[in-house]
Amino acid sequence: MPQLTIVVPVYNEAAVLRLFHRRLGEVIDHLPLACSVLYVDDGSCDDTWSIIVSLLAADSCVGALRLSRNFGKEAALTAGLDAAGGDAVVVIDADLQDPPELIPALVEQWQAGYDVVYATRTARDGESRFKRFTAAAFYRSMEKLSDTAIPRDTGDFRLLSRRALDALGQLRERQRFMKGLFSWIGFRQTAVHYLREPRHGGTTKWNYWRLAQLAIEGITSFSTAPLRLATWVGLASAAASFVYGLWVLLRTLIYGDPVAGYPTLILVILFLGGVQLLALGVIGEYLGRNYAESKQRPLYFVEEQHPPQTPR
Ligand code: UDP
Ligand code: MG
Repeated sequence: MPQLTIVVPVYNEAAVLRLFHRRLGEVIDHLPLACSVLYVDDGSCDDTWSIIVSLLAADSCVGALRLSRNFGKEAALTAGLDAAGGDAVVVIDADLQDPPELIPALVEQWQAGYDVVYATRTARDGESRFKRFTAAAFYRSMEKLSDTAIPRDTGDFRLLSRRALDALGQLRERQRFMKGLFSWIGFRQTAVHYLREPRHGGTTKWNYWRLAQLAIEGITSFSTAPLRLATWVGLASAAASFVYGLWVLLRTLIYGDPVAGYPTLILVILFLGGVQLLALGVIGEYLGRNYAESKQRPLYFVEEQHPPQTPR
């Protein structure tokens, strides 16, 4: 029987973890595959780990990894994917926003020959209008800026075949924008649509600050367009100053020079100063990424590891 591993990154999910495991259990009982579940505790500081330990004791298809601290979801996910065995892997959030009941549909597409089957949501219930708007704006600008097409309204919930997983395992960059990496590897990819539910309990770890950082991360790791933008803004302001300079020169030649123009002067200085600082910031953003990458640090450290015993 083909083997399927379900990788679940968890960070402070004590409120929903048991319910999640029960719902997941019902789904995998009906799958014609040998399934195991791998929980990755991303340095939780609530009861999450003790719940995982009790799940380990109660259910031999459960495995667990405990990271040495909170490394963030992308790193936790990577740790799980690195440790996962089997012919295919499903990545799912523990907060029940990704319905486990969709897994059979993902598996079906995999068995039809696809390597990456991602779940695309058709509604975003329980999310504010502002969040929906910013998410849409993000996907739209990503599409424009980057050569890697990143599917819209798609989270990390997806199935990966063994060869897609092995390919992904070779991408060891520190700036891990997973949605982008999943697409970048290529292979045969397809979507399965579903209704996104509101979070079932606990709170989201993504505030707008973290989301904005994620967006910057996404854009800078998959596109160098902002660097080019600095060039275009520089060119445009150089052209504009040339025209303006010509006009000032002609005016002085015709009407003489009454020494005025303080407002224009200060305006131009401030504007160009601003543009220069912005361009420096953009360069700095890329330079900082280069610096983090060049340190070649491991992506995570594992504190405890319990591989799944017998799949069910
Ligand atoms: N998560 C994690 N490490 C973190 C933050 C989140 O492993 O530092 C896990 C979290 O427990 C959940 C999943 O990643 O299973 C998605 O997190 P969340 O629901 O906060 O994100 P959202 O659904 O808002 O994208
Ligand atoms: Mg969530």
